[in-house]
Amino acid sequence: MSQPLIRVDNLKVHFPVRRGLLWQRQVVKVRAVDGLTFTIQAGETLGLVGESGCGKSTTGRAILQLQRPTAGRVYFEAVELTALRGEALRQQRQRMQMIFQDPYASLNPRMTVGSLVGEPLAVHELAQGKAKRDRVLHLLDIVGLSPEHYHRYPHEFSGGQRQRVAIARALAASPEFIVGDEPIAALDVSIQAQVVNLLQDLQQQLGLTYLFIAHDLSVVRHLCDRVAVMYLGEIVELADRVSLYETPLHPYTQSLLSAVPIPDPALEAKRERIILSGDVPSPLEPPPGCRFHTRCPYVMPECRHELPVFKEAEPGHSVACHLID
Ligand code: SF4
Repeated sequence: MSQPLIRVDNLKVHFPVRRGLLWQRQVVKVRAVDGLTFTIQAGETLGLVGESGCGKSTTGRAILQLQRPTAGRVYFEAVELTALRGEALRQQRQRMQMIFQDPYASLNPRMTVGSLVGEPLAVHELAQGKAKRDRVLHLLDIVGLSPEHYHRYPHEFSGGQRQRVAIARALAASPEFIVGDEPIAALDVSIQAQVVNLLQDLQQQLGLTYLFIAHDLSVVRHLCDRVAVMYLGEIVELADRVSLYETPLHPYTQSLLSAVPIPDPALEAKRERIILSGDVPSPLEPPPGCRFHTRCPYVMPECRHELPVFKEAEPGHSVACHLID
């Protein structure tokens, strides 16, 4: 296989929790992301799924170096992003962008659409004057907005249109890699499909590579080539879309998929939900052994103290579970 566009090697993001008025002693750390290793090929869409608080967004931010990792390495082709600082990092940042969940919060309400979309062109000194305006109008066109939107403000748009503005802004500096952090989760269901289709069209047109963070597994199935399932800061299963949805191996993945409605009424009638007991444990004190053992319906004695190794169970399908040992 060719060199991946993105390579993540044992990525960790731990947040210190400090106590004490005077000395601000570090007492514990939140293990938000705890040793992720995976690659993303050019032109691919990798889905990253899991319950909220499992570390998905922190992973996306750490890949883009918006959040500096505690340990591990991230490569963009042959360039090690985690080793870069200052201007060298700024230059690489142009190649990767993030689209956020809430387009209203991510767009400055005092800036017009023209200024919002044109800002990255100015920051990276890519265009000015008429060339910048022409580029912004082209970006508005490819995301399905019209020239008269140029002078409008974010509050004048619907949620779906605002997300289109955010996508145009993310595309301004011609990035190759985009992290979508639940980019459709805040939109009306009727609008979600339009934005997903737009992201797919843009990927085709511009040869983009996506990391798509989501908790809605039906959208992930529609959009992603491969899917990684996260639980409490770790990837527990990673496979191509068909294998993951048809033969999920990890009990956590099985429970997530059992909650997804099936469009076929006959199959839907037979769908059996796997309801997990208990809440997700705190990442301040993750359980020893398999982190999922406190909720797993198949827990065995060794699960409580032995960490299952994340390894390939079938070609291209990796899982961390003692049932697969
Ligand atoms: Fe369940 Fe044990 Fe597998 Fe963890 S290792 S998912 S507790 S069976």
